[in-house]
Amino acid sequence: MDSFTDIFSKPELTKQDILQMLLSDGENRSKLFAKASEVKEKYVGNVVYFRGLIEFSNICSKNCFYCGIRKGNRKVKRYNLPDEQIIEAARFAFESNYGSVVLQGGEIEGEAFTTRIENLLRKIKEVSGGKLGITLSVGEQSPEVYRRWYEAGAHRYLLRIESSNRDLYYRIHPGDETHRFERRLQALYDLREAGYQVGTGVMIGLPFQTSEHLAEDLLFMKKLDIDMCGMGPYIEHADTPLWQYRGQLLPLDERFDLALKMIAILRILMKDINIASATALQAIDPIGREKALKIGANIIMPNITPGQYRNDYKLYENKPCTDEEASDCKNCLEARIHMSGNKIGFDEWGDSKHFSKRIE
Ligand code: SAM
Ligand code: SF4
Repeated sequence: MDSFTDIFSKPELTKQDILQMLLSDGENRSKLFAKASEVKEKYVGNVVYFRGLIEFSNICSKNCFYCGIRKGNRKVKRYNLPDEQIIEAARFAFESNYGSVVLQGGEIEGEAFTTRIENLLRKIKEVSGGKLGITLSVGEQSPEVYRRWYEAGAHRYLLRIESSNRDLYYRIHPGDETHRFERRLQALYDLREAGYQVGTGVMIGLPFQTSEHLAEDLLFMKKLDIDMCGMGPYIEHADTPLWQYRGQLLPLDERFDLALKMIAILRILMKDINIASATALQAIDPIGREKALKIGANIIMPNITPGQYRNDYKLYENKPCTDEEASDCKNCLEARIHMSGNKIGFDEWGDSKHFSKRIE
């Protein structure tokens, strides 16, 4: 076994090195976090960029076994934000000097949906004088659809692979035509081809997931040469099929710690990418996202979905801020980010430095 000082000086990390870091505790765990923090400061700086998150609809055609808004959950009150309210939320982000917004929702395919998103993208660009950056996160679509949305103004796309291990993927998704691992993987290549900054990620602490899976997930992201990552702890939801395995899960504090380690290791592995501090971290620890910003993450996605809809976008239990209005979140967030030793990159897109270098 190598010492952490030896591991940190290697040009390439092996799966064994990553496993050693994932399983670290005590002094080694502190060394890992200190190193990740140093790498962050050196390569992307202590600046945090905001992406105002608009969860515009919880209507979804898919049935992922972990997700509270899956199609098969009849207990969810479905909503679809009117276009005016989406634009209003984007205007709020713009006026609050957030550099970007994320439009996220259930996965729907078809011309009506494609055109709607296309029009929304154009309108958001229009109301912000072209200044707001736009990230999309609406699942698997055809290469043509990805191209159309790129041309309409989206320039980043988040599509988590959820798990890069094919067997595990099929344990957390139905094995039917609408949930194919190969298609999800291909979608990541299609997004790159269309010109996006591509983000992916995984859930951490899933039933059946091992440390080896997580180490392989990190190497997968490195191999794919992603520009951005959003990953966070898996949190069980009572109205989903995976709820039955809740007795096999790591305790929440251990899942949280594992998620922090994943973020720290990824920062060391891919020094100049953008790493989001996932909302699910906050569901476990009220200052969970700020802890992630200290040890490697540099993006935060304040929820700016109008308060009345937040309760209905419950992917998991105990989702934070579901009863707050966007402005409440803004004030508490700013103070907490300063406390985490970071500055806020107001009015900036905060694009992935990794992406800029790759296309140079
Ligand atoms: N429908 C799109 C998709 O799946 O890519 C975007 C919205 S989906 C709700 C966004 C992310 O939520 C998923 O990629 C998944 O990782 C995460 N998610 C869903 N259920 C979760 C849970 N129970 N715990 C943690 N994250 C969850
Ligand atoms: Fe739908 Fe995304 Fe939830 Fe899967 S994770 S059920 S695609 S919203």
